[in-house]
Amino acid sequence: MGAVIRGVLLPGQRQVELRNFAIPTPGQGQVLIKMRASSICGSDIRAIYREHLGHGPEAYQNVIAGHEPCGQIVDVGPGCRRFRVGDRVVLYHISGCGLCHDCREGYMISCSSPLRSAYGWQRDGGHAEYMLAEETTCVALPDALSYVDGALVACGFGTAYEALTRMQVAGRDRVLITGMGPVGMGAALLARVETRCWYAKRAEARWTRLNALKRVLGYQTPDSCGGRGGGATV
Ligand SMILES: [Zn+2]
Ligand SMILES: [Zn+2]
Repeated sequence: MGAVIRGVLLPGQRQVELRNFAIPTPGQGQVLIKMRASSICGSDIRAIYREHLGHGPEAYQNVIAGHEPCGQIVDVGPGCRRFRVGDRVVLYHISGCGLCHDCREGYMISCSSPLRSAYGWQRDGGHAEYMLAEETTCVALPDALSYVDGALVACGFGTAYEALTRMQVAGRDRVLITGMGPVGMGAALLARVETRCWYAKRAEARWTRLNALKRVLGYQTPDSCGGRGGGATV
């Protein structure tokens, strides 16, 4: 296409750098996505923005940041089988080799192949006007969700959902949420669908979030649960 887009790099030391890039062309099995929302994760702040903490294959490679992208496909490369131009998609944030045991189990995050790369860490991510992605990392965004919804649930809610799935929480369980960051909030919202009694323990700094859970959503604190412990703890 030849056009230039702007992308965000995070060189460390709390700096943000805007740089020009050419719009990439999708190769085999890849799609080009017009970015509609790209949220900032706590990991980005902690391990890239302030200082670069990752080592070896986990290190930030001075690529376009943003591992929580959501947008609309505008071009597809050869060999794509599921998604088409116009589809709205969320990106799973890590592209694995696709062939190792972990990838086949659905845990691309555990892939140890040199081909593994995370968007916004080892390959260009969502903080740009367009983004190149593997079709295998695209997840269809339901019509009921906005692009902002999609970006926010991609990493945080996915992480929370996996934890709850492994715990196999059900209607008989009480769930104790001990961290009220975005992932903890996601766990609280998701677990409420399955469980009958709720409460959240908090750090003082998270009072506003806890209050929202209590007042708006009717969640309970350990005190209001009669001193009974949580059967499942996140
Ligand atoms: Zn994230
Ligand atoms: Zn793999």
